[in-house]
Amino acid sequence: MSLLIVGSIALDSIKTPFGEKKDILGGSGVYASVAASFFSRTALIGPVGSDFPPEHIEFLRSRAIDISALHKIDAPTFRWGGYYEYDMNQAHTLDTQLNALAKFDPKIPDSLKETPYLFLANLDPELQLKVISQMKRPRFLAADTMNFWIESKRDALHEVIKKVDFMLMNDSEIRQFMETPNIPLAAQRLIKLGCKGVIVKKGEHGALLFTKEEHFSAPSYPQDVLKDPTGAGDSFAGGLMGYLAKTNDISGENIRKGVIIGSVMASFNVEDFSLDRIKRLKHNEIMRRFEEFRHFSRFEPLPVEHFA
Ligand code: AMP
Repeated sequence: MSLLIVGSIALDSIKTPFGEKKDILGGSGVYASVAASFFSRTALIGPVGSDFPPEHIEFLRSRAIDISALHKIDAPTFRWGGYYEYDMNQAHTLDTQLNALAKFDPKIPDSLKETPYLFLANLDPELQLKVISQMKRPRFLAADTMNFWIESKRDALHEVIKKVDFMLMNDSEIRQFMETPNIPLAAQRLIKLGCKGVIVKKGEHGALLFTKEEHFSAPSYPQDVLKDPTGAGDSFAGGLMGYLAKTNDISGENIRKGVIIGSVMASFNVEDFSLDRIKRLKHNEIMRRFEEFRHFSRFEPLPVEHFA
């Protein structure tokens, strides 16, 4: 196995200006592992509640995701309810029922402890730490989080940041966490806490990559179809991590490519509710959209003679 993802497995109830759906497949671990499965051999660990529909398990299996270490928990599945207004960058949480997630105590089987790429999707940072402590240090370790944990588990989140290579956050979360509206400053403050780099997801406005020395900006995609942004951040992370695991190359240049792959996967994900668009996605569509991203961000140098 080249990539292990640990995250939530959820039934989401979502309302956007384009529709409303109840108890649909979601969860940070689900979105991330399905996106990653387009690139690499991926295992998913997360808590499955007793009412989790078997067809969702079948779907994960159909993507060749190793689900042998899912934790079956005798409680209802984790549920998240939220809505979006026309500014779809901002998710408004209506309801978080931790259910099975509250009883989740991640145990990593021996067969997965040496997995070289590890992604800790949005999850209680105390659980993220438990996962890290059971693993042989992966070659590349990244983690995501959200405002829910920034507000309730700040200290544990600090510990996670010390231990990961890259942290992924969205723009409002990193501003909130680092207490500044200035994203580059927030990113540098976060890096000072101990990670090597940070990727700031800005929804429809693209993504920014910061390390101590480098800055890279992934362009926004002119999205014609946008129905439900839920899972965009997790699909981004899954695409990035799946690509890095597949190529087994964590050079700065390859991470930049991975950031574009992540943006491509997120841009497909938002075209429909739940994972419905990703279920229909083909590899050639990924390739084509990657080329579109390259095209949007290409420009020529200024002719020096105009300024002589
Ligand atoms: P995002 O990629 O940020 O849109 O993530 C959306 C997913 O995160 C949804 O499918 C939710 O089920 C999941 N989620 C929401 N709140 C939490 C939480 N507190 N912990 C873990 N997962 C969550």
